[in-house]
Amino acid sequence: MPELRKDLFTDNWVIIAEGRDGRPIDYSQGTVPANDPADCPFEPGHESMTPPEIDAIRPSASKNADDWQVRVVPNKFSALSPQEPRSVPVKQGLFQRMNGTGSHEVVIESPAHSRRLSDFSPEQVERVLRIFQRRLRTLLGDERFQFVQIFRNEGREAGASLVHPHSQILALPFLPISFRDRLQASRKYYAQKQRCILCDVLEQELEKDERVISAGDSFVVLAPYAPRHPYELWIVPRQHRHDLRDLGEPERLDLAERIPETLRKLDDTLVNPPFNLLVRTAPTPNHHSEHPSYLEDLSEHFHWYLEVIPRIKRTAGLELATETHINTIAPETAAQTLRNGTT
Ligand SMILES: [Zn+2]
Ligand SMILES: [Zn+2]
Repeated sequence: MPELRKDLFTDNWVIIAEGRDGRPIDYSQGTVPANDPADCPFEPGHESMTPPEIDAIRPSASKNADDWQVRVVPNKFSALSPQEPRSVPVKQGLFQRMNGTGSHEVVIESPAHSRRLSDFSPEQVERVLRIFQRRLRTLLGDERFQFVQIFRNEGREAGASLVHPHSQILALPFLPISFRDRLQASRKYYAQKQRCILCDVLEQELEKDERVISAGDSFVVLAPYAPRHPYELWIVPRQHRHDLRDLGEPERLDLAERIPETLRKLDDTLVNPPFNLLVRTAPTPNHHSEHPSYLEDLSEHFHWYLEVIPRIKRTAGLELATETHINTIAPETAAQTLRNGTT
């Protein structure tokens, strides 16, 4: 049974989940991944190897049939427990703990065993995005959860343990400190200017055109001004919305083309790099016992977007000690390289 412990020195919650050590790993230490679909729990026909399905998109109506196109299952080696009641902090001497109540789901993004996201068809990416929206609606509607993080690890260096394309969704009973800091920054800007910080940044970036990689009808891909990682990219919707749940079909179709197109640029330049894709979408303000100012006007001051972080740099002592990153590729250089194509 996982539990949450508060780090007294930073206010961060830490998930203690010993059982996850038993999970299968395609990637052994430093070698080529074991890549046999016969052993893969995410293959069509292997549905019984995963816990019962939560959601799916399939042409037929029969649940658990093997004709799914996207399938959501609980993580068999979950870092959190979805059956528990609402987490309530309990004192333990100086310390604080709470039940590891949360949801940890796997989105199996394709029936195809070994395919990079850059090779997905827009139709398939659109299905995955639709599933993300559906899961967000359910999980953010659950009063036990304050925050939902959707993310994707591709490649061993990015944290993937299985080759089969998948992303993960974690619903947490707390708001992580790093996300609180983002909300505080955007709320502060909004309080001064009554404007959204990312809308303003987007306008300035499009005008200066130093860090823009591509600009479509609905989404702009740019290298952020102060990226922590070489070739870090943001995919930003032009229309101001705080929440991925509100993305309509025309924009979803556009984003479904934009994602693989952007990843192909990274593949060409960095030769198929491992990467993380992070969805930055607003938490729900309703399930907090306190109502700090950064949760006010959330739909006005926060602007959802995607982050793509190629994992070509090892984080080391400085980053661990200070969270200060040294980035050896300026975003202007990264943007120019990606705009011009293969180096
Ligand atoms: Zn597979
Ligand atoms: Zn905005």
